[in-house]
Amino acid sequence: MARHSGGDDRLHVLIIGAGTGGMCLAHGLRNAGISVAVYERDKTRADGLHGYRVGISPTGARSLRECLSPELFDTFVATCARPPRHFNVYTEKLGRVASFEIEPPEDPGQAEHSVSRMTLRQVLLSDMDDVVEYGKTFTRYEQTPDGRVTAHFADGTTATGDLLVAADGTNSPVRRQFLPDAVVRDSGVIAIAAKAPSTPENRALVPEVALNGISTFFAPKGQFMILHSMEFPWDHDGKVKDGVGGNDAELIARWPGLLYDNTRDYLNWGLSASAGKFPADVMNLRGPELMRVALDMTGAWHADVRELMRRSDPASCFAVRIRTSEPVEAWQPGNVTLLGDAIHTMTPGMGVGANTALRDATLLTRELVAVAEGGKKLTEAVGDYEAEMLPYGTARVADSLAQNGMSGSDPLHRPFIGRIVLAVARTFFRANDKIPALRRRFIAGLREYRGSDAEA
Ligand SMILES: Cc1cc2nc3c(=O)[nH]c(=O)nc-3n(C[C@H](O)[C@H](O)[C@H](O)COP(=O)(O)OP(=O)(O)OC[C@H]3O[C@@H](n4cnc5c(N)ncnc54)[C@H](O)[C@@H]3O)c2cc1C
Repeated sequence: MARHSGGDDRLHVLIIGAGTGGMCLAHGLRNAGISVAVYERDKTRADGLHGYRVGISPTGARSLRECLSPELFDTFVATCARPPRHFNVYTEKLGRVASFEIEPPEDPGQAEHSVSRMTLRQVLLSDMDDVVEYGKTFTRYEQTPDGRVTAHFADGTTATGDLLVAADGTNSPVRRQFLPDAVVRDSGVIAIAAKAPSTPENRALVPEVALNGISTFFAPKGQFMILHSMEFPWDHDGKVKDGVGGNDAELIARWPGLLYDNTRDYLNWGLSASAGKFPADVMNLRGPELMRVALDMTGAWHADVRELMRRSDPASCFAVRIRTSEPVEAWQPGNVTLLGDAIHTMTPGMGVGANTALRDATLLTRELVAVAEGGKKLTEAVGDYEAEMLPYGTARVADSLAQNGMSGSDPLHRPFIGRIVLAVARTFFRANDKIPALRRRFIAGLREYRGSDAEA
């Protein structure tokens, strides 16, 4: 059972959505002794299709370290896949354009991590049974004259608190009521993703350096593909693999989350292009039909890449319309606020959607701790959070839309100019690969962006 406001005058926070940002906030608040309840529409902690890879940047890792207990942060680190050691750029024919080495820092709180979305979810739901209520679909809220806020759920129940936090993702029903004019639109790009088991036969289709990192493929017609090799510290039976260090082995062995998580080693690819290049009914297709679409679109690609697609698990294949938020004007702070995709949905272009949600959670935790300690009024703290979150959130949305042809209007998708832009992009990467000064600057720029807490 979730804790409810017990009638005392302690701050009580309601969070809608037990996703990345909502759960990070819930840990931060609970660890600070603030009363918090999370309401999640999924019926159990194992529901949902969360099979994809999420890259946790130094910004995200710092946020997790700040909000989770030290043991749970160590469990997060122990349950990540092998960290990426290279960022690679290929042509669609598997020609090497560039390969940049990512040197992992000693401190896991400052490093890049590869995590399965389902595993991260299970880490964040660990030891939170007294905080999270499942099967609670939020429908609307009501602000009462005593300054409190009541959430209503589809099952007819309600919950009342001092602050309602929308952590309910891209289609946020809280946002629809709170900011009815806010727009989340299609970016004009569709992606198809799937996973192939990481068997020796499938791994043999991928260059060694690509197995050790993140690989991107820039192709004609605005096609873009990303490939991740995910290797976890447990084997096919969920047993800790030989060679996994003592503390990590112990943390994984005693972590109950693995019971809910069927994540096993995989090769994860995602192919994107402008929506017009897909069949009109692509969003209604499933499994083998969807994989057929990806294969039909990549007829001119290297045979090994296509073979990897063919060998993917049809059940893991899904299509997404890439969406992006329009900038929102600042509003008067009150007892409803938003974080993560609910306020700044972004394309996967920069790989920072989850990281920005985690950053929001940490910032809001700090502000609410100031309220609990008597240093700030609630409205002032919420206002300070929003004044900082909105500019960097808006900036991340814009950066993500400008990357890798993630907008349908990007010149990469146009028939003639697209070829020129592709040639320029490849030349840019080749120059950064070959010329040491450019190479250093490129790596430093990437590191700075992914570790940055800058405003914009
Ligand atoms: C294929 C793919 C790859 C990605 N890769 C990356 C990456 O590498 N790096 C990165 O930083 N980001 C990545 N992202 C983006 C990232 O997953 C999201 O930005 C992040 O999960 C957003 O977190 P959130 O907490 O705002 O929302 P979510 O994690 O989506 O959580 C929202 C929660 O709210 C619940 N909910 C919704 N409606 C209701 C309701 N009415 N009542 C109650 N609960 C409700 C949902 O069930 C869900 O649990 C990727 C996304 C995709 C799809």
